[in-house]
Amino acid sequence: MNDDQLLRYSRHILLDEVGIEGQEKLLNSHVLIIGAGGLGSPVALYLGSAGVGHITIADHDRVDTTNLQRQIAHNLARVNEFKAESARQAIAAINPDVKVTTVTERAEGELLDRLVQGADLVLDCTDNFATRHAINRACVKHRKPLVSGAAIRFDGQVAVFDTSASEQAPCYACVFPESELLEETRCATMGVFAPLVGIIGSTQAAEALKLICGVGQPLTGRLLMLEGKSMEWSEMKLMRNTACTVCGSAHR
Ligand SMILES: [Zn+2]
Repeated sequence: MNDDQLLRYSRHILLDEVGIEGQEKLLNSHVLIIGAGGLGSPVALYLGSAGVGHITIADHDRVDTTNLQRQIAHNLARVNEFKAESARQAIAAINPDVKVTTVTERAEGELLDRLVQGADLVLDCTDNFATRHAINRACVKHRKPLVSGAAIRFDGQVAVFDTSASEQAPCYACVFPESELLEETRCATMGVFAPLVGIIGSTQAAEALKLICGVGQPLTGRLLMLEGKSMEWSEMKLMRNTACTVCGSAHR
């Protein structure tokens, strides 16, 4: 680390749990963020400001005026630009040393597989089940930790799925089976309370930084749920489903 970096990251380095060693791990890490909307915005800003060395941001959507109520990486001047590119500019304005790769095609199929394989850790900041399941499959296949977040109306949830952590650690599909037809509830039709995506996205960013630095206990195998109206958090322990169609023993 050079003098500029020692100064920039001094408040992390002062934390015994992070220190120079942890900060070096962040600088040497490559994180994939899928979705640069409400959750992806705080994730991108915190990972960028904290000095994650290489961030790949995948989002095929463009910034729209209706996004600005909550998607804090974007601004009025960047309406109609790709969200991934807008988020790249937001990071560059804070921390130009971070290498940011933008992907403006839909992250699916071979592209998704390649992106996940190339990253140390993946953050799912998307808003639909089909994409979530595709990301989960790629993470299980390549044994990458997945920090998953969701937010709608006043409620949100966060969990870490890392099947390489232990034999009991579940994947996303153990908890939300692919066969279950879950009703899609998306911000476009249901509404979302602006700071909720900030709370959930910031929690995802915290878990990602903890996992990279090896700090504390990650949310692996735990689903953290927030009821925003009462501001009550609750937690559910998650177990691997041995019959899971993605990570179950018959499918590995
Ligand atoms: Zn599973």
